[in-house]
Amino acid sequence: MQKTVLNLIQQQIIERTESCMALACEHFNRQFLMPTIKFNQRGKIAGSARLQLNELRFNPVLMQDNLDHFLSDVVPHEICHLLAFQLFGRVRPHGKEWQALMVQVYEVKPNTYHGMDVTKVAGKKFAYRCLCGPVGLSIRRHNKVVRKVQQYRCIKCGNQLVAA
Ligand SMILES: [Zn+2]
Ligand SMILES: [Zn+2]
Repeated sequence: MQKTVLNLIQQQIIERTESCMALACEHFNRQFLMPTIKFNQRGKIAGSARLQLNELRFNPVLMQDNLDHFLSDVVPHEICHLLAFQLFGRVRPHGKEWQALMVQVYEVKPNTYHGMDVTKVAGKKFAYRCLCGPVGLSIRRHNKVVRKVQQYRCIKCGNQLVAA
């Protein structure tokens, strides 16, 4: 992905964050500080909110392929974590306060799972095999097999997996 294209995507995320914050200020008739925005979220997570720092992190890889979903859902989702913290203090991450903010301020369904394709960001799989075919194990599981602390069975047939 070219740098200029990514910057355009980042710009849209930043603008959406600004307009969402403006909506919150209007809704509650008070000021909320614009959060710091970083594009360094890794892994399968779309975004995250650092409550104490008033900081949002977005996943640059998922962002590129799912910009519409980020603008419609992920940005309000993460902002609502910040708002819930600033309005109500430490509450459950996706509890009733957060859900109410999603619905009342942004009219977004309070979904917790993003359902985006994560194949590009999924961790490397290690090749194992079973009588019924090849199976991929995560690095965490692979390390357990190597250290001989755990063995894994095929979920289809129940046979023990061996390294391919
Ligand atoms: Zn969340
Ligand atoms: Zn099998």
